[in-house]
Amino acid sequence: MTELPARRLMLVHAHPDDESITNGVTMARYAAEGALVTLVTCTLGEEGEVIPPALAHLAADREDGLGPHRIGELRHAMRELGVADHRFLGGPGRYRDSGMFGTPANERPDCFWRADVDEAASHLVEEIRQVRPQVLVTYDPNGGYGHPDHIQAHRVATRAVELAADPAYRTERDGTPHRVGRVYWSCAARSVVEEGFARLRAAGGGPFPELASAGDVPGVVDDAEVDAVVEGGAAEAAAKAAAMRAHATQIVVADSPSGPPESFALSNRLGQPLLHTEHFRLADGAETPGGPLRDLFEGLVGTAGGAEGAR
Ligand SMILES: [Zn+2]
Repeated sequence: MTELPARRLMLVHAHPDDESITNGVTMARYAAEGALVTLVTCTLGEEGEVIPPALAHLAADREDGLGPHRIGELRHAMRELGVADHRFLGGPGRYRDSGMFGTPANERPDCFWRADVDEAASHLVEEIRQVRPQVLVTYDPNGGYGHPDHIQAHRVATRAVELAADPAYRTERDGTPHRVGRVYWSCAARSVVEEGFARLRAAGGGPFPELASAGDVPGVVDDAEVDAVVEGGAAEAAAKAAAMRAHATQIVVADSPSGPPESFALSNRLGQPLLHTEHFRLADGAETPGGPLRDLFEGLVGTAGGAEGAR
């Protein structure tokens, strides 16, 4: 294998679009800094609701063609973020979008929720041992907001991190064990989300007649729980907005006459703030006594040179 960049970040997300909404600034920033940014998406998001009327025929209850279409949207989004390495867990279409609990989609045997965690994790172990990330980002145990695929992504990523480091696990097939240095769970600081809503309200909601509320935003936590903050400059915020816009079946991003867009809506059409700052918690519950880290790699890898860290 050719030599890997010194800093390597892997993100594990449930559906195409989650990465851009949740971590678009982070992905754009580290890609621009020359880190290897690897996205692993677990499903094709086949059960998503379709916003543009002209594409409504793709929906699961009509032609069921949304999955392949969203592969194209994701590819476009990754171009906007400057991310070259994106993969689907077990290959595209291996696991189907599980829909919400109680829906028929959630009963299908091929949905991600019904997958065996160890079997699904085995695919991710291969990716981890290949890419050898120092940092892995996924969701908290509730998946941020309780969607079955987000909960399952958390479980599979957590299990894969364990197995990838295990010298007794499939080394003949998946190569040298690798210990991920740090696992983060994406979150959103309550004060930042509330300020975002206050700004939107003051602006009359922008293009969205009605607004969501802070309770609708996945992964909102008290500010004191935030362990790391990645702030986007104008370039990263613009890249995030462009990547979100690429997921056109799922997201409407507000136009902005000056500066990066500040709001978006999902298929419920409720406006919410497009956050230019992204937040993380440490999965191992460690404290950061000096306040939140400003760099996900802090203390793990030097900022320049060398391929160390691949322990
Ligand atoms: Zn999702």
